[in-house]
Amino acid sequence: MTIQIVPLGAGQDVGRSCILVTIGGKNIMLDCGMHMGFNDERRFPDFSYISKTGDFTEMLDCVIISHFHLDHCGALPFFTEMCGYDGNIYMTHPTKAICPILLEDYRKISVERKGERNFFTSQMIKDCMKKVIAVNLHQTIMVDDDLEICAYYAGHVLGAAMFYIRVGDESLVYTGDYNMTPDRHLGSAWIDKVRPDVLITESTYATTIRDSKRSRERDFLKKVHDCVAEKGNVIIPVFALGRAQELCILIETYWERMDLKVPIYFSAGLTEKANHFYRLFINWTNEKIKSTFVQRNMFDFKHIKAWDRSYIDQPGPMVVFATPGMLHSGTSLELFKKWAPDPKNMVIMPGYCVAGTVGSKVLAGEKRIQIDSYTAVDVNLKVKNLSFSAHADAKGIMQLIRQCDAKNVVLVHGEKSSMGFLKSRIMTEFGIPCFDPPNGTTISIETSHVIPIEVSAKLLKKHLAQSSASKPPLFDYPSNKSKNNDSAMDTGMESSTSAHLSSPSSPSSPDQGSSDENNSDAPSPPNARLEPSSVKPKDKILIQGMLVMEDGKTIRLEDADDLLDRIPMDMHTVRFEVTKQFNETALRLAAEEANLVSVGAVPAEPISSASEEEEKESTAAVHDAGEDLEMGDATTTSARPLPASQDWDVHAYALDLVHHALERAIGEHVPIRCENGVIYARTVEIRAGTSAAAKEASPGDEAPASGLLIGWDYRDEDLATRILSIVTLTLAAK
Ligand SMILES: [Zn+2]
Repeated sequence: MTIQIVPLGAGQDVGRSCILVTIGGKNIMLDCGMHMGFNDERRFPDFSYISKTGDFTEMLDCVIISHFHLDHCGALPFFTEMCGYDGNIYMTHPTKAICPILLEDYRKISVERKGERNFFTSQMIKDCMKKVIAVNLHQTIMVDDDLEICAYYAGHVLGAAMFYIRVGDESLVYTGDYNMTPDRHLGSAWIDKVRPDVLITESTYATTIRDSKRSRERDFLKKVHDCVAEKGNVIIPVFALGRAQELCILIETYWERMDLKVPIYFSAGLTEKANHFYRLFINWTNEKIKSTFVQRNMFDFKHIKAWDRSYIDQPGPMVVFATPGMLHSGTSLELFKKWAPDPKNMVIMPGYCVAGTVGSKVLAGEKRIQIDSYTAVDVNLKVKNLSFSAHADAKGIMQLIRQCDAKNVVLVHGEKSSMGFLKSRIMTEFGIPCFDPPNGTTISIETSHVIPIEVSAKLLKKHLAQSSASKPPLFDYPSNKSKNNDSAMDTGMESSTSAHLSSPSSPSSPDQGSSDENNSDAPSPPNARLEPSSVKPKDKILIQGMLVMEDGKTIRLEDADDLLDRIPMDMHTVRFEVTKQFNETALRLAAEEANLVSVGAVPAEPISSASEEEEKESTAAVHDAGEDLEMGDATTTSARPLPASQDWDVHAYALDLVHHALERAIGEHVPIRCENGVIYARTVEIRAGTSAAAKEASPGDEAPASGLLIGWDYRDEDLATRILSIVTLTLAAK
């Protein structure tokens, strides 16, 4: 099965989040945001990608909105009321409550201040919100019979959620925006170990690993204090909800402690609304807020007063929290225009700013900013960026990948350059694929499904005992264990029930028996016992056994002999056979050549003349020569006569080559013997001939002339596979 993902927005970009996902035949839109950096049609996602004819309701199974920020929900009324989408829309209760307020704000700014036309109306926002189905955290919602969604706490802002989406065996997690560290008013994101096939995560701060929260807070307070002490004004552009509340709590506490009298204002009267929502959705805040709410409202501030536009002409100093956060309109922009030319003042940008906004230009250090076609502002005030924004940093993103145990990661909502860094880190650290598609690019992710099977301890022990002598080792030891990586692993089985694995006691004494863990000579502390769970398979390990399926029980893999003891049944061994054909002439030439090279004095025969009559030497000589040559020791071989043509048996020669190759490659682990023209390695047998299947494939008496027949019991599939590849290589090399 395949999961397809197309970002319509937020692909290698921040803003206009909108990601289309096809999973198990269902089409889902994740977020429906607007881009604050644009005022033209680019501010909304290009929905024509979904359908050219506008039948969005038929095309999509549902729309999911992660949180109330406009870059995640700003295009929703446009999509439902103006483009005509009429299907299911899901978001959490707080998002549903707060979303329309921000949308209305946005509409007012666009239509009433900027005079835009063809914009959604207040009524459209209301109609749109009526279609929304509000969900609770951890509540499993069946969108239809097959499509299941579930919201998880994302921190970030009030009501923000990550969504787990499942159709049949395939699943996906979309994070929206989140943070992995709690702040002063919200908790940190958390998700179950849902092992999604795909995790689509934001990556706003992909290259940042932020210093501790506490030092950032101290830094923030010091800067504000220093500025007002010099009689400067401080403007802090914020989103109405979220960071604002956190910073208010912080500054209120500080003002109280330091007994400061400088006025602090909060613009737009949003404090009241915000308080209302925090009270309403108190369960979404952190424990501290919850408990203090009982005594007093954490958001009823003593020092922070509502902003009035007339205060703008008051002499400073003062501190103003003003919306919006990216200085793209409203009070924050108005104050910025007024205060920017004076170097005494300061702007503190506590969050991320979308490219194209005034905020982003300020952060980029521009000294003269064109606000609109009529206004330009000289920027002389101090600019401070404090990353207080509630996004996960690189560490947090890695933490989430680990927490949910994702199989693939798709990065969105970040800048291309920093995504690349995180992408390679994810791939090396987790060994999983990671993608960062640009907008409009489809990526397809194959999903495979694993059926959990219990393996009987007996079978596992047997297998470990068998592979204990393997070199190179089948297992990697945890790095703090023995330095001797190529040493064999021992299965210290003892009488305990769990299969303890002991590391080698000493790199220099492999023969001592690694189960001797009290060996005082051991140079590196063997600390011998390794729990099976601490051993990482280097490769996938194949364990053969019988699959037992019983009603109501987990599927088990058992040892065949073990199973036969319990059920009254005779053993029927399944054998497999395969013919490895080879080119007789090529092999003969190779033999001849090997001999010539080793003899040195015998004149080279033209290749075409290598007919049977011209070969005069003995078979044995060829074998010796061949062997010595392979051992890299050809010069020591004494001259021997070439085999007589009638004595020379190409099959015996091929078998001999294979025998020696096997001895070298796996002889250490598996005893190999050769008797009467048959090579034996456990149940694997190699002889000259062709299998019945091969004969059938070439009917008549034209049976394949040259080949080695390889047969094995089902239980030695693993070994047979290795042997087959050795045989193929050996014969091909000749
Ligand atoms: Zn956000």
